[in-house]
Amino acid sequence: MIQDTAGQAFDLPFDGHLHTDLSPDSDVPIDDYAAQAVERRIPEIAITDHVDFVPGTPAFSYASFEDRERVARDAAERWAPRGVTIRFGVEITYDRAHEADIRNHLARHAYDFVIGSVHVYAGSPYHVSRVAAWAAGRSLAEIVAPYFDEVLAAIRSGLFDAIGHLDFVKRYLVPHVTPAQLAAAPDLYEPLLDALVQTGTALEVNTSGLRQAAGETYPASPIVERYRVLGGTRVSAGSDAHRREAFTAGLEAGYRVVAAAGFGELAVRRGADDAPVTLPDRFRTAEGVPATRT
Ligand SMILES: [Zn+2]
Ligand SMILES: [Zn+2]
Repeated sequence: MIQDTAGQAFDLPFDGHLHTDLSPDSDVPIDDYAAQAVERRIPEIAITDHVDFVPGTPAFSYASFEDRERVARDAAERWAPRGVTIRFGVEITYDRAHEADIRNHLARHAYDFVIGSVHVYAGSPYHVSRVAAWAAGRSLAEIVAPYFDEVLAAIRSGLFDAIGHLDFVKRYLVPHVTPAQLAAAPDLYEPLLDALVQTGTALEVNTSGLRQAAGETYPASPIVERYRVLGGTRVSAGSDAHRREAFTAGLEAGYRVVAAAGFGELAVRRGADDAPVTLPDRFRTAEGVPATRT
């Protein structure tokens, strides 16, 4: 397993995916991340707590928009003098059945940064109780279809600045399907990558996969490279930390994935600021400076 030194990253420009105690599955106070950012000279972070529109799921009505906004804006004000920009973001669970609710929410509430992600819930074929039966006797395309179809709908909705952990389903498929099998089937990803390019939605390189069974980023390097070949220009990166130790975990490796695909910067809307986030010099590839604008 490729495992970056957890939490030891310095001088990275941005961690774009963080959960605080305003997510049901995290207990990290926002100031904890901000303090670590100061210590590690990381100038910008995005708080992206969960918001779900599926009744009965943990993040459904967990924390109000007003509470989340107040906590993030207040922290942003307090930490700005110490050199950390805190963006008020969100990670919205996309599912087709609630697309209208999501659209309505986003029309009425302003975030700096909106990640749309597909998650795996109890009724899913990828749930631990039925994933083995689901994977048995099906082709790779059939196995991933329920997840990838939902991700495609999320992208086509045009609602999101970035799509979170594009192939998070890898987490649930191991060992029935290996990450190597998926990496060897870039054609399965092609409709997703094309839709990202067409809608101008950013592809997130999510490093939580490095500390889970998949052992690689969501998505892996070859898929990020394919995205660029297909004309993709907008990439984000985030640790998806839910615990204090996971802050920036794997991000060194994540930025290497971004750079290896030929990107020299992250380009993603962050509030009024959509200036690109430039990668540090150490990520420049052996072939020279990655071409960032074509
Ligand atoms: Zn997620
Ligand atoms: Zn997340």
